[in-house]
This record gives sequence, structure tokens and C-alpha cells, in this order.
Amino acid sequence: MNHVQAAPSTPVPSPPPAAVLSLRRVTKRYGAQTVLDGLDLAVPTGSVYGLLGPNGAGKTTALRAVLGLTGVQDGEVRLFDQPWHRSNLAQVGALIESPTLYPHLSAQDNLRVHATLLGLPVGRADDRIQEVLGEVDLLAALHKRAGQFSLGMKQRLGLAIAMLGRPRLLILDEPTNGLDPVGIRELRDLIRDLPARGYTVLMSSHLLAEVAQTASHVGVLAHGQLKYEGPLEQLLRGSRGTLALGTTDPARALSWLRASGVEANEQPDGTLHAVVPEERAARVVTDLTVSGVTITRLAYLHDDLETQFLKLIGNSVEVTA
Ligand code: ATP
Repeated sequence: MNHVQAAPSTPVPSPPPAAVLSLRRVTKRYGAQTVLDGLDLAVPTGSVYGLLGPNGAGKTTALRAVLGLTGVQDGEVRLFDQPWHRSNLAQVGALIESPTLYPHLSAQDNLRVHATLLGLPVGRADDRIQEVLGEVDLLAALHKRAGQFSLGMKQRLGLAIAMLGRPRLLILDEPTNGLDPVGIRELRDLIRDLPARGYTVLMSSHLLAEVAQTASHVGVLAHGQLKYEGPLEQLLRGSRGTLALGTTDPARALSWLRASGVEANEQPDGTLHAVVPEERAARVVTDLTVSGVTITRLAYLHDDLETQFLKLIGNSVEVTA
């Protein structure tokens, strides 16, 4: 009898987890104050996830909890589809507040110190240091002392330190804080490119414009809970926007809209603004035309991120735009 031998099975690489990080019902209290209140959050693989929230919302506390820098009273943190364990942190790089640098050492030597701490083999460390300095656009400053760096360069060196061990997840707490516009732009461009280099990024910010230009996904945190989570684009698109209408008879159109239950008002230039969901806009325009109103101009204005953000957090707190 002939036996057909099965070909040796080649190991099939398991697909990367859909979420590199997830928090489930995480609760953190400081004394009587509940800072994280049953927080659910999931950071998709390959995303730049902007954790957005006003001052005191609990962003830093959430990031510190993920890094094991603070304990939580309840809930679960999962990293790379596994229950949280300190050993998982080897695949996480973090930049929390200002980076700790040795000012009298060069960029290269600062990184060598961290390479030693990470246990990178000496022969390979310098290659990786060159590579990572290239990734943060600091190769020209390889031999320059960190003490002579601008704030933006220091922050990028801090990012290089966080990236040195090639982590899968980078956690950045308010990375552009305190930088000038040039520094902000450089860091923003760099962060935006990180997923293409194999990193998933979780960054916190209270700067809405910042997140809008950097993140692919957004979580909006207020009072320790997530008020929205999803692709940034969806947040902007799925919003209730404004239908701007020019008509030959604004008074008649306005009374028709209001009689139909649509919140509407007349702008100083005679344009009507009607608050309707995007999917209802075409119907409103058709019905208005059928009612005998002639429409001369038409536009649908989406809420910007700041308007969305304020709606989500209930306008109850001061926000920096
Ligand atoms: P910000 O944008 O101002 O950094 P945040 O969203 O990062 O704010 P957290 O720093 O997480 O907010 O703080 C959330 C709340 O927890 C604040 O009211 C803060 O005072 C409180 N808090 C944070 N750390 C501690 C601590 N170690 N002890 C007591 N309360 C704390």
C-alpha cells in the first residue's frame, strides 16, 4: 500500500490582532474621585489613534494604566490580544511628558545608553541607532550633544528612544506640547508616517487641530468615559451638519422648514441654515422645491472636529482649539 506523505506543513503566521490595545470597563479612582469610569477603548492595528479630551478628562491616567505606571481598581487591559502582563511592555515604546535625556551626551550616545538598557547586542545597536535617527530625521545631529538641541529635536530624540526596540505600539502623551509651530509640524509629519513603518500609535492630545491633522482614529474622552470612538473621517461625516440654502423667498422657505420640524434660521446675507443629518438633506431639498420654493444655491456644511468635540463632551469644559 502506498502512503502519500503529507508535505511538511509550513507555519502559517497568525494574523495581527485587530486591536493592539484594548481597555474594557477600566475604572480608576483617586480617593473619592473617579478618574476612569468603566472606560472601554480599542486601538486598531496600524492606526494613529488620537485620545482626545479636555484637561483632567483622564487621558494621562489611561496611558499610565496601560504602561503599568498606575494600578486600576477594576476592568481589563489587553495588549496584543493578551491579558496585560509586564512582559508585553517589551513591545511598547512610550514618550510620557518630556524625554529624559543626558544633555552632555550626543544623540548617538543617549541612544546607546538605552540600547544597553534594552539589551540590544552591541554590534547591532549602532545600526539600529542610525536607522532610528533617520526615521526621526535627526541623522545630521548624530554627534551633537542633546543639551544643544531645540525642544522639537529633544522631543524627536525622545521618540527615537521610544522606537529603539522596534515596539509594535508607541504611546505618546501630548507629544507636541510646548513646541513651536515648526516643531509641531515636523513631529506631526513624522507621527503620521509611523504606521507605514510598522508602528501603531496611541497619542493623547487636547489640541483638536493637532489630532485632526495626525490621527486616523479618534477616541473622545470626557469624565473618564469614551464619548466617541472610530475613524476620524466617520466622526466628521456622520455628524449632523448644516444645509445652507439660497432661495428666492427666504421667509416662505423658513416657515416651511420650521413647520416640518427642521431647526432653521436666516443668516444676515439671506441664506437659510437648516440643521439636518446628511442623509435627510436631499429629501428636505426635494420637499421644499415641491412646496413651491425656488432654490438658487445649495451646500451641505459638515461640522468641523471642534464642533463635534464640543457636542460630544457636552460643552461643559473649556477646550483649547
Ligand atoms: P491634561 O490634559 O490636563 O493632562 P488628562 O486628561 O491627562 O488632563 P489626567 O492627568 O489623567 O487628565 O487627570 C485626570 C484627573 O485625575 C485630574 O482631576 C487629576 O487631578 C487627577 N489625578 C491625576 N493623577 C493623580 C494622582 N496621582 N493623585 C490624585 N489625583 C490625580
